[in-house]
Amino acid sequence: MGINHNSAKPGAGGAGAEGREDSDLQMIPRWSIVLALMVFTAMQYVFHVVMPHHRHELLPMRLLMGYTYGTALASYVLLVGYVSRDVKRRNMSARLWMLLVIVMPGGIGAVVYFLLRQPILSHCPHCSSQVAASYHFCPQCQFQMSPVCGRCFRGVQITDVYCTQCGHDLAEDHAPARLRAYSD
Ligand SMILES: [Zn+2]
Ligand SMILES: [Zn+2]
Repeated sequence: MGINHNSAKPGAGGAGAEGREDSDLQMIPRWSIVLALMVFTAMQYVFHVVMPHHRHELLPMRLLMGYTYGTALASYVLLVGYVSRDVKRRNMSARLWMLLVIVMPGGIGAVVYFLLRQPILSHCPHCSSQVAASYHFCPQCQFQMSPVCGRCFRGVQITDVYCTQCGHDLAEDHAPARLRAYSD
């Protein structure tokens, strides 16, 4: 490992770090939040205005029903919104998966999606080529993404002192400071 990994290209590094800080809340597009609110309001309208009111029917019951159906459908809309953004950062077909999630009944499409989705792709801070989160090194420029053991090259935790697989003393590896919890 004779490569100096600290000399990242100017400009390329910032973009890579930003992409990784995407919180899951930012993953829900505005259109789906607006649509969810509209769906929730529409359900209240259906339960309180459209549906015929019987004399024996209790108001709390109707409130509860409206709230339950409203939140269930609104969550579904938010879920579809989340999937529409999530597919893009995983290089999957957006049209196919949104159709599946919407069409399959009872949220089965969403379950299938979360089981089968591909790992998130990010960019190498050094050469900007596409890398998966599971990679230890960039396939194009050998930039080290995550802490590894210098003897067996399996992944290790940033706080580990010894490799959990082969017992190697990780301090001997002189890993880059950004991959060490305590830079001594
Ligand atoms: Zn690279
Ligand atoms: Zn090892």
